[in-house]
Amino acid sequence: MKYYSLEQQSPKVSFKNAVIQGIAPDRGLYFPEKINPIPQKYIQNINDISNHELAYAFINQFVGNDIDANSLKHIVEDTLDFNFPIVKVENNVFALELFHGPTMAFKDVGARFMARCLAHFNQDNKKEVTVLVATSGDTGGAVASGFLGVKGVNVVILYPKGKVSEVQEKQLTTLGQNIVALEVDGNFDDCQRMVKNAFLDKDITNVRQLTSANSINVARWLPQMFYFVFAYKQLENKTKDVVFSIPSGNFGNICAGMMAQQLGLPIQQFIAATNANAVVPNYLETGSYIPINSIPTISNAMDVGNPSNFVRIQEIYNNDFELLKQHLQSYSFSDDETRKAIKKVFDHSGYICDPHGAVGYLGLKQYLAQFNDLQGIFLETAHPVKFLESVEPVIKETIAYPQQIQEVINKKKVAINIKSYDELRSYLLD
Ligand SMILES: *Cc1c(COP(=O)(O)O)cnc(C)c1O
Repeated sequence: MKYYSLEQQSPKVSFKNAVIQGIAPDRGLYFPEKINPIPQKYIQNINDISNHELAYAFINQFVGNDIDANSLKHIVEDTLDFNFPIVKVENNVFALELFHGPTMAFKDVGARFMARCLAHFNQDNKKEVTVLVATSGDTGGAVASGFLGVKGVNVVILYPKGKVSEVQEKQLTTLGQNIVALEVDGNFDDCQRMVKNAFLDKDITNVRQLTSANSINVARWLPQMFYFVFAYKQLENKTKDVVFSIPSGNFGNICAGMMAQQLGLPIQQFIAATNANAVVPNYLETGSYIPINSIPTISNAMDVGNPSNFVRIQEIYNNDFELLKQHLQSYSFSDDETRKAIKKVFDHSGYICDPHGAVGYLGLKQYLAQFNDLQGIFLETAHPVKFLESVEPVIKETIAYPQQIQEVINKKKVAINIKSYDELRSYLLD
């Protein structure tokens, strides 16, 4: 399988090169040259097929010959060693829990898959790769855990000082080994700018092979298809049409769902639920795509003012606005509405949503109110314990730390403080 750059100004590359480079030389995102549907017969038998086998069937064509079948099967099994349950919250409303991995955020799957692919490519190669990533919270922990101990890969994570939760900070500063945390005096945008500068800095790239680990990287983006497959498999009633509501920030997760649909998974509609960062809902309403400076909210992993994967979604639908509108609905919700949803769901069913899942729930309810005879799944992208400050005051109960969190919360934080791009540069050149 070859990948082309959505900017169209770079040569096509293999999966391996797309993963190692992260982004094309012309700054475009990589996109697969072909999408070959899976036979409908295979999907109709989904209940008889194991998760590992399904995952392999969905990802295999995108990896192509760059990883042999046996190794890819091992990577898939190793990546997916936890569960993805759907939980009934109301009639025809299900939560897909994506937080049972090591850092309790859905980004675990993409990070673990990408790490294992890089490790595979590095087997016979002495050149080390540096994964450089900026995080507003969840990405850092998932990447740190996913890449921990992977040979030939160094991980450098930039995070904004004082702006991630205690749990998130511990998840990315306590692991050691090949993981280094840089605590930046500044906000997330500053971290992201420094990372971008480093990628363009020839002095650095001459001595270090840098790669990204955000959803721009195809190895982090594509494995997210699995969630939709596993959720669909668990539905008892497969005759009723199913819609998915995805709490969206960079739109990587929802875009992976659309790829699963392109491969033949019967999904009737996608709903992109956003917080106040309403660039996409506004676009679908007005036809003008206007990026904004990100607005801080309680669902902060979705505080994105210019979603990087949206260009991939446009590519899937041939850059045809009307076609896109047939497949995608999008709604925006305020923090107040989000808190009310957390309370309402908890009071009615005892289920505890995190703020991101609650935005997904709201999007789903808004869509279901307009159409009959559907069932819907919203994605619960993080465990509520990661957003205690927002959730506990609303439900007026305390949430106990699950084992994954207990393991890191009392460990000692180790981070290097940096104040400027020059300090990052010195660190990377050293
Ligand atoms: C990253 C993240 C999102 C947004 O996912 P995208 O793929 O960027 O749209 C939603 N919820 C949580 C908890 C996240 O960490």
